[in-house]
Amino acid sequence: MELFNRIFTFIIGLVFGSFYNVLIYRTPRKISIIKPSSFCPHCQRKIKFYDNIPLISFLILGGRCRFCKKPISLRYPIVELLTGFIFLFSYEKFNFSLKTIFLIFLLSALLIIFFIDWEFQIIPDWLNYPGILLGFLFNIERFPLFSFYGIIAGMGSLLILKLIWLLLRKKEAIGGGDIKMAGFLGSYLGYKKVLFIIFLGALLGLIIFLILVAIRKRNIKDYVPFGSFLAISGVINLFFGEYLFYWYLNLFKR
Ligand SMILES: [Zn+2]
Repeated sequence: MELFNRIFTFIIGLVFGSFYNVLIYRTPRKISIIKPSSFCPHCQRKIKFYDNIPLISFLILGGRCRFCKKPISLRYPIVELLTGFIFLFSYEKFNFSLKTIFLIFLLSALLIIFFIDWEFQIIPDWLNYPGILLGFLFNIERFPLFSFYGIIAGMGSLLILKLIWLLLRKKEAIGGGDIKMAGFLGSYLGYKKVLFIIFLGALLGLIIFLILVAIRKRNIKDYVPFGSFLAISGVINLFFGEYLFYWYLNLFKR
């Protein structure tokens, strides 16, 4: 039975992942998520339902469109697989409960934000606002100020960073979307964790961005998709948080 539950949860995750791919592709391009039904971005031909089965169709088609044979982005199977694992992980953690759904929302939102912000420098409000609200429900057994302090700490510290950056470089580096996303993370994870996530996200962003500049994949003047780095840092924190946090504190004890 336990094995059946796990497989079932994973498959539901794959199906949701397939839907997240639609969201990642369509919402920043302002295409309706209902109509038209799935189409190939190269030849615009409609994708038949049997070519649209998560993971399996990609493998059967060898990662190419049935009609024009152009490659299908690897992002599709990657998002599907990761969503499968998000569902499985959340189930392992909280079984079938409301908390499972809230955790799935958080991890799914980070996955979707990662890809949309990386490509379009947009962090969707339709994830940030519900995220801030659901954070309160996720922590319902704690005192309500837990989420509230988290929101203040997350949004406040990014606002300060934004002002410092504006003074130093006279350039917009942190947008409203980043600030709201920090509020979302703070609401879910509280002020201690959100401050650490912002710190780690900024550090990761700086290192990876400089590497990309060094290998000429990006220009030094390019926009840094900070939301994508906050998403990575949020996931790292969720999985290895405690361990990292003590390692970080120990650095200052020498
Ligand atoms: Zn095609």
